[in-house]
Amino acid sequence: MEVRKIVLIVCDGMSDRVVSSLEEKTPLEYAKTPNLDKLAMIGCTGVLDILSPGIPPGSDSAHLALFGYNPEKDYPGRGAIEALGANIHVNEGSLACRFNLSTVVEKNISEGVTLIVKDRRAGRISSEEAGKLIEYLQMKLDSFSGVKVKIIPNVEHRGILVLEGGELNGDVTDSDPHEVDSCVNKCEPLTNASIPKAAEHTAKIINEIVKSSYTLLKEHEINKSRVERGLPAANIILPRGAGVVKKVEPFIKVWGLKPACIAKLALYRGVARYVGMDVYDVPEATGTVNTNVEAKFKKAVELLKEYDFVFIHIKGTDSASHDRKPLEKVNMIEKIDSAFKIIMDKVVTPGKAVVAVTSDHSTSSELGIHIGDPPALVIYAPDIIADDVKQFNERAVLKGGLGRVKGVDLMKILLNYACRAMEYGLKPSRESRVYRSTECSPLVI
Ligand code: ZN
Ligand code: ZN
Repeated sequence: MEVRKIVLIVCDGMSDRVVSSLEEKTPLEYAKTPNLDKLAMIGCTGVLDILSPGIPPGSDSAHLALFGYNPEKDYPGRGAIEALGANIHVNEGSLACRFNLSTVVEKNISEGVTLIVKDRRAGRISSEEAGKLIEYLQMKLDSFSGVKVKIIPNVEHRGILVLEGGELNGDVTDSDPHEVDSCVNKCEPLTNASIPKAAEHTAKIINEIVKSSYTLLKEHEINKSRVERGLPAANIILPRGAGVVKKVEPFIKVWGLKPACIAKLALYRGVARYVGMDVYDVPEATGTVNTNVEAKFKKAVELLKEYDFVFIHIKGTDSASHDRKPLEKVNMIEKIDSAFKIIMDKVVTPGKAVVAVTSDHSTSSELGIHIGDPPALVIYAPDIIADDVKQFNERAVLKGGLGRVKGVDLMKILLNYACRAMEYGLKPSRESRVYRSTECSPLVI
């Protein structure tokens, strides 16, 4: 039996709610999308409960679910994912957090002096200045209570904090309050931490590092010069998203598919690397609304020769939503649709692959946040039974044949339409009881 390849296109945060300035339509309804509508016409549609009904997912846990992993069990924390995305090697068992170089001021409170966040990005400090400050911190802070500390710069104000050694746990609160004019959070173990003692130990170390970073950075020459130039001082590091790095079963072993990812931004590249995908970029992609979607789709067509599964991530739809620009989102959707003609011509029409288009979550372009509404989904396979849905948007797909699908089940559905799913109960392969293996182990007589 001929098996098919799979293309999964995730338009980040594309699904939305009705927007008053768009005649009470969603951006996807308002946009002119002849190519995606064609796919809906010849494919089958539905909605995806990415994590659970009503739960707004983060992009990283959402992608894990879309790749068929259980985020409850397999999610290593945002810090670990970002480190992987930035190509920073972190050993299994180490703890990784993201951090921002931020600007704080002191404030007297009844318990003593606290720190108030004035700019979470320290005026979007340049990578060059941030790099020097972080290098200085690393020199001064290389270990705490027997735990090795690594402070690694990323782009501009961003960095990764890695702790190695001893028992560490990621179930701790963020030092970053995520709001300006709020005080720097004391890092504390979560009440339901999986290893409470390790979480307490981890929180203590993080608090020491945060306090020391302030003491060291506030007097630094670069900050003195920044203040003289009228710029905010980058006088503290604020960690968030702690997680202990672990290993998961690689995608190829779970699904029997050789996977490739095309994504620009570190977070998505990180999730893809975490599950063992080969990660590609196209120079024309920017990770913003100005990206070149055509270049991404062309690359996908090329990669399909070598890979069984190609995942393409497009960010602009989510960015426009966070910026509360529904019309910019409409334009981005129309740009995706016009580029999608490449997939229609080169993948759908030849009828050799399964193609799915969806979002990792819905993002409201009026509220500017992720929402728990299930995103629209369309799947095409050459022999799929098309439903009566003729347009690809949140309202139309409510009548779709796939109904309401759980995010973690999407891969199984795609595997089935790719004629790769193994009949339940059969066990011809030692590797998997999920997919049909093409390799056989010959009995020698
Ligand atoms: Zn997202
Ligand atoms: Zn988002």
